[in-house]
Amino acid sequence: MTTLIKAKDYIDQNLDRLIKECAEISVKAIPFLKVVLVGDNPASLSYVRNKKALCEKVGAKCEIVHLDTNISAEDFSNKIMGINNDNEVHGCIIQLPIPHQLKKLKIYEMIKPVKDVDGFGSFNVSKIYKNQVESDSLISCTPRGIMNLLKFYKIEISGKRVVILGRSHIVGKPLFHLMTNEDATVTLCHSKTKNLKTICKSADILISAIGKHKLINSEFIHKEMTVIDVGISLDEHGKISGDVDFDDVKEKVATITPVPGGVGPMTVFSLVENLLITAKSQIYEN
Ligand code: NAD
Repeated sequence: MTTLIKAKDYIDQNLDRLIKECAEISVKAIPFLKVVLVGDNPASLSYVRNKKALCEKVGAKCEIVHLDTNISAEDFSNKIMGINNDNEVHGCIIQLPIPHQLKKLKIYEMIKPVKDVDGFGSFNVSKIYKNQVESDSLISCTPRGIMNLLKFYKIEISGKRVVILGRSHIVGKPLFHLMTNEDATVTLCHSKTKNLKTICKSADILISAIGKHKLINSEFIHKEMTVIDVGISLDEHGKISGDVDFDDVKEKVATITPVPGGVGPMTVFSLVENLLITAKSQIYEN
């Protein structure tokens, strides 16, 4: 029988720990996240609301800094610099995507490493790359959530063959290194990869972060496989869908994450876990 890997199970077991930790830190200062949102992308608006809601549930503060879609690169940089220099703010994220006039900025390097709760900047990325991850390292949220989910469900990684679809800076590449650090043999696939079905079929753990709904069907899988679906897109009826054709695959694999309810909530939870790490490091240092 297929096991459904649900974020809710992990969150139900870990939420109280986070609330307690936040309360302990808050004796000195309340952990404070600023989420910088440029423009009115409906998906981004919904993501940032979820992030704020979880922060507040845990007892942390979260402010959405909502900027005009036409903001200049200079004004945007000044905003981020202000957040970097604000001692009351412990974490900051820039919600992606950003408008084209900001793409010339080195967006991943703008937030100072100690506040980089998305873990996108080179200081934090290099820890993963060099296999120097410690309990207080800032690992980017989606990969962190996936690793936590696999460990929570006791899915063996060491010695396993992991195939990752998608080579983005925020999911595929960090996950490649995290999995390698855990002694998996990892193949990273992308839009130019040939023989995708054959490569996918060779996986013990298949992780798809592409953004093309229902691309992965029963021809890509086998009955012992763990399938982690990161993708979020809209299907032909405007309904949220993952990369995996869930109905086709769900009874033909060992374990699978649903969309929604799988990786998405883990990403938000990881963000708050990262916020508490940054808050602790800044508050107890001063
Ligand atoms: P991206 O959107 O920047 O890039 C897509 C990647 O998919 C590229 O590396 C590309 O080479 C690869 N790709 C495209 N078509 C392919 C194909 N046919 N075969 C193999 N590879 C192919 O990547 P991203 O930012 O990691 O986002 C990927 C998806 O994951 C999106 O749907 C995004 O919304 C979703 N996402 C979800 C979460 C979450 O928390 N659930 C977090 C981040 C991203």
